[in-house]
Amino acid sequence: MNNIGTLIVLTGPSGVGKGTLLRQLTQRHPALYVTVSATTRPPRPGEVEGQDYYFLTREQFQTHIDHDQFLEWAEYAGQFYGTLREPVFAQLQLGRRVILEIELQGARQVRQRMPEAFLIFICPPTWADLEKRIRGRGQDSEQAIRRRLEQAKLELAAAEEFDFQLINDDLETALQALATKILSL
Ligand code: 5GP
Repeated sequence: MNNIGTLIVLTGPSGVGKGTLLRQLTQRHPALYVTVSATTRPPRPGEVEGQDYYFLTREQFQTHIDHDQFLEWAEYAGQFYGTLREPVFAQLQLGRRVILEIELQGARQVRQRMPEAFLIFICPPTWADLEKRIRGRGQDSEQAIRRRLEQAKLELAAAEEFDFQLINDDLETALQALATKILSL
């Protein structure tokens, strides 16, 4: 298949502000295409089916795995998350910049399967700041929060594997740096 677009992966620990960065980025640059992932995690208040995620049962998720319909998928904090292959390739063939906002294991799978992808890691300014943001979200159980904190430590240790690292301290500064990098690809 002849892809003429650019595949961009955005990874970083839960709570680092990837979602906010991406929302702002796509508002300013509507030509960027952000994929909608599938997940088995229940929707948080305000999340919309088909917009934030495709919310699937484990059985539905497994069917996509069995049919090899995921570009990548991973288990994260006890739930499954995956990127459907088809929309990604369709947009790449249109020549667009396609952004996947995914966790570390998924990023590694993309690196293997599509080595031409550009991988970006978003870091928090400090660990204390990240813990505050994860706890401050107030929408997850204490158990889920602990799992996310453990996972965050593992993810931060892998930041060096990425092509580009960005510290999300001041939102506007991070946004400008991210936009400049992505639009240069
Ligand atoms: P959350 O439950 O907070 O929405 O997402 C938890 C983690 O799953 C985040 O790090 C997010 O980037 C990641 N994630 C979301 N969608 C996907 C996906 O399609 N594949 C993978 N591997 N991770 C994902």
